[in-house]
Amino acid sequence: MNKTIYLDNAATTKMSKTAIDAMTPYFDIIYGNPSSLHSTGQAAAEALYDARQRIARCINADPKEITFTSGGSEADNQAIISAARNGERIGKKHIISTKIEHHAVLHTLKKLEKEGFEITLLDVGENGIVKPEQVKEALRQDTCLVTVMFANNEIGTIQPVKEIGAICREAKVPFHTDAVQAAGHLHIDVIEQNIDMLSVSAHKFHGPKGTGVLYAKKGIRLTNIIEGGAQERGKRAGTENIPAITGMAAALEEACAHIDENAEKLSAMRDRLIAELSKIPHSVLNGDAKQRLPGNVNFCFEGIEGESLLLLLDDKGVCASSGSACTSGSLDPSHVLLAIGRPHEIAHGSLRLSLSEENTDEEMEYTVKAVKDVVEYLRNMSPVWRDLVSGKKEFITK
Ligand SMILES: *Cc1c(COP(=O)(O)O)cnc(C)c1O
Repeated sequence: MNKTIYLDNAATTKMSKTAIDAMTPYFDIIYGNPSSLHSTGQAAAEALYDARQRIARCINADPKEITFTSGGSEADNQAIISAARNGERIGKKHIISTKIEHHAVLHTLKKLEKEGFEITLLDVGENGIVKPEQVKEALRQDTCLVTVMFANNEIGTIQPVKEIGAICREAKVPFHTDAVQAAGHLHIDVIEQNIDMLSVSAHKFHGPKGTGVLYAKKGIRLTNIIEGGAQERGKRAGTENIPAITGMAAALEEACAHIDENAEKLSAMRDRLIAELSKIPHSVLNGDAKQRLPGNVNFCFEGIEGESLLLLLDDKGVCASSGSACTSGSLDPSHVLLAIGRPHEIAHGSLRLSLSEENTDEEMEYTVKAVKDVVEYLRNMSPVWRDLVSGKKEFITK
């Protein structure tokens, strides 16, 4: 097989033909600045208006509640900073989140901590899921924000967002969710799921990179991260990226229209991978077996290095990841794997396979064989593995 098998869709996706086609006229035909008063500008303003309506509809929001950003990271930053500033104004400086959030959330919280905010990071169970009661117990009089991700980008676990939202609503504390991995893959309804703020990124559902959405429920005051012109009702300056926004709207609509059939197809391939890779001795699935994204598979293999595994899989034409694109390249084990209780030794030997609806059963078959071969090859060369097999060291996994 010479074709590349792309199994890193949690890092980014290929753009859909629909999204590319939707974008192209906005580069050279309808290229105006939506703030311009002439007709060329107004045609772009119309496209912006239209995209906002369509994106709002996908998550059951009002178009006025949609702010376009440069992606998921900016949306997370703006949501958290806004809630912090709103809290600060009334003397509330406590924020609740979890240990498994994306760095866009965790690093923003770190920054606020240095400013004097108190941050509670909830533990998750071994299955990678936080319990709504944990949120309830952590709430205080001075809590100004709860931020819990919709679905985890490494281990794919889906959090009980609706229940957490209900608890926050009752306590009158704003609830933000990083839905970057969920949008286009799981049903989102901000009203039904009690969500006050939500982050989305287009390149995780076959849209373009560098564009995203912050949904903020009517009445929540947003703080600018980018200062300048009066775009986005004065809450996010900078000439709007019309081609990208148009592509995002097309990609999200397409993904949401096929959400159930895609989930069915992906989860069948996912479960097949999980069943097959579980047969590798001394391997362990990371994250809940059921309550996970349809396209997410994440394993630890004892006695090997994730980096070598990835390089050898790449040689065999399989593009995978060892966790998040942000931590690969650094030697620290993933904070998510540590949070679910994986010891350093095995957290280093992790593999994430994230699927898209373009993948096939034949690709899964090939991938299973490739992973089995590579794991065996690396273990045969590994001094750590030799110590484990000879009994000099004890196995952590079964
Ligand atoms: C990818 C990702 C982000 C960052 O989104 P960008 O658009 O790449 O900035 C944030 N949170 C999660 C969960 C992600 O998977």
